[in-house]
This record gives sequence, structure tokens and C-alpha cells, in this order.
Amino acid sequence: MSVTSADLEAARAKYRQERDKRLRSDGTRQFVAPAGELRRVADDPYVEPGFTRAPLADEVEILIIGGGFAGLSVGAQLRRRGFTGLRFVEKAGDFGGTWYWNRYPGIQCDIESYIYLPLLEETGYMPTERYARGPEIWEHARRIARHFDLYDDALFQTEVTELRWLDDERKWLVRTDRGDAFKARFVIRTNGVLDRPKLPGIPGIGDFKGHVFHTSRWDYRYTKGDSSGGLTGLADKRVAVIGTGATAVQVVPYVARDAQHLYVVQRTPSGVDARGNRPTDADWWRSLEPGWQRRRRDNFVALTTGVPQDEDLVGDGWTDAVRKLGSFIGTDAAAGDLALRMELADLAKMNEVRARIEDIVSDPRTAEALKPWYRQFCKRPTFNDDYLPAFNRANVALIDTQGRGLDRFTESGFVFDGREYQVDCVIFATGFDFGNAYGARAQQKGHPIFGRGGASLADEWQAGLRTLHGFYSTGFPNLFHMGGSQNGVAFAITYCLDEQAEHIAEVLKTADDRGATRVEPTPAAEAGWVATIRAKDKGFRDFQRECTPGLYNDEGRDDGSLSRSDEYYGAGPIPFHALIRDWRAEGFEGLVFD
Ligand code: NDP
Repeated sequence: MSVTSADLEAARAKYRQERDKRLRSDGTRQFVAPAGELRRVADDPYVEPGFTRAPLADEVEILIIGGGFAGLSVGAQLRRRGFTGLRFVEKAGDFGGTWYWNRYPGIQCDIESYIYLPLLEETGYMPTERYARGPEIWEHARRIARHFDLYDDALFQTEVTELRWLDDERKWLVRTDRGDAFKARFVIRTNGVLDRPKLPGIPGIGDFKGHVFHTSRWDYRYTKGDSSGGLTGLADKRVAVIGTGATAVQVVPYVARDAQHLYVVQRTPSGVDARGNRPTDADWWRSLEPGWQRRRRDNFVALTTGVPQDEDLVGDGWTDAVRKLGSFIGTDAAAGDLALRMELADLAKMNEVRARIEDIVSDPRTAEALKPWYRQFCKRPTFNDDYLPAFNRANVALIDTQGRGLDRFTESGFVFDGREYQVDCVIFATGFDFGNAYGARAQQKGHPIFGRGGASLADEWQAGLRTLHGFYSTGFPNLFHMGGSQNGVAFAITYCLDEQAEHIAEVLKTADDRGATRVEPTPAAEAGWVATIRAKDKGFRDFQRECTPGLYNDEGRDDGSLSRSDEYYGAGPIPFHALIRDWRAEGFEGLVFD
């Protein structure tokens, strides 16, 4: 499907019009944390109630906060380098992070499992399918924990409540909600962002008297069945799924199949491309040469972040848009710059995504309402072969709120456009609290952090994040952050986490080799990195400003601070990881070991 510069002008105008419909003055404040009657929405439904244990007051070498793929990856890298004296503190009942919490029907990895799942060569595990399902991914997380002998070092069902640096001892005092007060020489925060459910602040949300839950705490006692379906408990139920993001796209086909009636409440449609999952070919798997996973990951991440490659080793929906880029060279866009060519390629791809809806969804009004009008990476692209066909079922209705959301909830249902819809059950597929404000981010997982001289990290970051390479901050020695701030990010997030884990392990190994008891960036190094990030982030901010409001752009906040809370290294993850590898090789300039 070819597109011209004239098509582009029309698309830009349509995208802006659709974006403007969705802009709200309350931005990220439109969401609420589960509270009051809805507090139980965030409870862990997977553990037996009543767990207790004696509080700890001992000392460990390295505390790792969080037991998802970030924590597991850093644990594995530390073990490889011979570290002992680790302690994991994890609020869930097991390792697994987001794959522990999210067990909803249809849960599946949206990145190829050969790329997404870490440490496949080390653990000798072959994923059963190209896009693995949730239970298999969670089991792989536990496999890593077993393989690297991490279970004995884990405190589950425990949340850190405070970190306080003890200047004299050069150690962190760690307090938890289980009454622990132990010390750790180093602390690594693997702050996930997909663990705290958020709810829309729709008026009357607490008034609904039917059954309510969030997708990340799926209530199988109510629905029956498991993540592969069989939700027989919904057979006589009228159900509303609120939200149409990446989670809802996976959930909807399963609820549609089993519920008496399903309303899908949409504010902004997702782009839904073909999935084409298939079992792993064991012959192909056996033919892979050692080092294959790193090569495949590097190739995929490079391609999907704009670093040209001679070949596309993966060849799926993610790399498809990038492949199309080449076809614009030689068209009327060739005179333009790379950004323009990418925009044209993006439009061609989104035209395909929109045309696919018309091919699949039989009711023209529903098909039209399901069309996404924004650039491909404004929201996470989704891939699913069952979502769009679900709207052809007689028991499924799309409630398209045209970007507005619902008017309100009532005791027995919800109201949109003056009409009340009665339902028995409301399932919120409304995502997670990413902790967008700097202060909140510093306290994420509810623990304030007090560094040298009792300084609070939340206060230090009030006016903006300040780190060296996203990992550490001046005034907060021996404290490491993992995640997606002030570093290079990719949709294949585990790739970035593995690189970060390797980096942190190398820094800690160097501290160990040098007998250092304090690791901390100099103020000059930190300031230099913040300036680099701000300079490199501009293109990304400009892109985000034009996007439909959502998770990635602070709900479209356009007050000049847009996306500053995430501050990525604008050149992308491949150059970022090369930069930190070179930085290590050149002697860790700006990081004090003493
Ligand atoms: P998201 O935050 O991505 O989506 C939330 C959804 O709720 C959006 O559709 C949003 O609409 C909608 N919503 C919010 N408020 C209202 C309202 N008042 N009325 C109606 N709808 C509303 O959450 P997800 O759980 O889908 O995804 C969370 C993260 O997890 C994302 O980063 C996602 O990409 C990732 N994910 C990854 C998967 C994987 O396989 N790797 C699978 C599933 C999720 P609107 O768009 O208008 O804001």
C-alpha cells in the first residue's frame, strides 16, 4: 500500500483531531489508586492469607528489591561472578514480577519468546511456542531462580518500607512491612512498573454493587477456568471489560467466548496486527549456534530502534514496519530526511492495520470505531488473531466512548451517553501506576529513601531525575536503580534489563576487587549525564507531543515537562549499551570507588 506526502498531510490532521478529542486537563490525575471498598482490587489473590515470620535484624552484602526478570537477571549476573550474601525482598509470594501478577486468560508474550525470555542458553530451555503463554513465562522466571540458586535468598510477601544510609557504617538500614530492620552494603532497586493496578477515576466507581476485579489480579474463583480459558463462571453473566490496551486485546477473546454478554468499553483503540503464533521447530532449535540468543536479540532491538541491519533474523510484526522503510527510498520521499521516510513508512503500516479491521469486522460502524488514528509507536502495538473477530459475535458489543470514557457507574452498571448498561461484573483492564511524578517514582513501592546526611531522594528528584547513566545518584551511595529512566529503552524490555544487570554486576565486581565500601557518582558526572539526556531526548519528546494521550506521554501533558519523567537516551538502547560498555573499559570515569 503506497502513500504519498499528500496522504501524510491528511493523516497528520486526522491524528491531531483524534488526539485533541482525548486531551484532558487532569492528565495523569484522572486515575485513582484502589481505595476504600476497591482496596481489595490490589490484594494478592494467589497467596494463602495469614502468612507470618519472625523479623530479621541481620546483615547482607547485596539487597535486591524485586524478584521479576530485572531482579532475577541481576541475581544471575552476580552469581556468575561468585557473589554470595544476596537477599531478595519481593512483595509477591514468588519470583516472576509482572508474570506472577498477570495470570489473566489469554496472557501471552508479545515479543518473540526466543528474545523476551532471558538466559535461554544458560538454562538450556526451549520455549514451546514462538510467543509463549503466561504460565510458561512465569515458570521460566522460577527456572532462573532455581538455576542460579536464588530461592534460599528470597523474602517473599515482604515490602521494603524505608531505606536509610548509615554514614558511619557505610551501609543501608532496610526496614520492611514485616518488622525487619537489617543492613545491606549495596541495594539494587529493580523497580518494576507493572505491579500496582490503577483504576480510572470514573464518577461512582465505588457505587457498583456487582463483582469487580483488575486483570492483574484475575478472580478465577468467580470466573472459573484458567489462563487457557474455560471461564464457565461467566456463562450467565453480563460483563464489562474497561479498557482496550495490550492486556484487554488478549483478554477480550476469552471473555467473549464464555460470557453471556460482553461490553468492551473503549476510549482509544489499540492497533491490532496479525500474530501468527506457532510451535517452536525443534530441528531449528537444535541448529542454533552458541551465542545465538545474543545475536538474535541485538538484531531485533537494533532493527526496532532504528539501527540498520543487513538482515532481519526475526521477521515479525515488530520488524515489519522497519522493513517497509527501505521501500520508501527512491519514492518522492527520498528527497526528504530519514524522519519523513519513517513517518511515511509508519503511515503505510497503520493503513494496513486499519484496512485489516475492515476485512475482519463485519459491522462497518464497529470496524470504523476500532480504527487507531495515531502513529504506530504512540501506543504499544498489539498482535492478536482473535481480538477483532470477537466483535463479530452476537454476544459482544463495543461501547466506543470516542475518547471520553464512561460518564459514571451506578449500583447495577455503567452509563454512557445518558444510557445505562446493566452488568454483573466489571473487569478493569486499565493498566498500572507507572509513578510518573519524580517524587512518587523515588518512593515507588512505598519506600522513602534517605541518603547521605539524611537527604530524601524524593526531594532531590522533585525537580527532575538526576542520575549517572540511570543507575546511581550523588548523595545516595551504593544504591543502584534498574528500569527505564535516563538510559536506553526498547520494547523488548528484558533485553535492556539484562544489559543493565550485567553493568551493575561489573560495577559491584570492581568495587569488590578494589576493596571499596562506597560507590557513588561525582556531582560533575551526574550533571554531565543529565545534560546529555536532556539534549538527546528532544526528538523523542517532539514525537510524543503529537501522540494520542496515553501511558507513554503522561496522558498527553503538554506543559513543557512532557515525557521528562521518563527521559530516555534518545539515540536508543544499542548506542546506550555500547556507551556504558566503553565507559567501563575506559575506567568508570566519574564514579568514585573508595
Ligand atoms: P494500558 O495502560 O496500556 O491500557 C489501559 C487501557 O485502559 C487503555 O485502553 C485506556 O484507554 C483504558 N482506560 C483508561 N481509563 C479509561 C476510562 N476512563 N474509560 C475507558 N477506558 C479507559 O494497560 P495494559 O494493562 O493494557 O498494559 C499495561 C502495560 O503492559 C503496557 O505497557 C503494555 O504494553 C504491557 N503489556 C504487555 C504485554 C506483553 O505481552 N508484553 C501484554 C499486555 C500488556 P486510553 O488508551 O484511551 O488511555
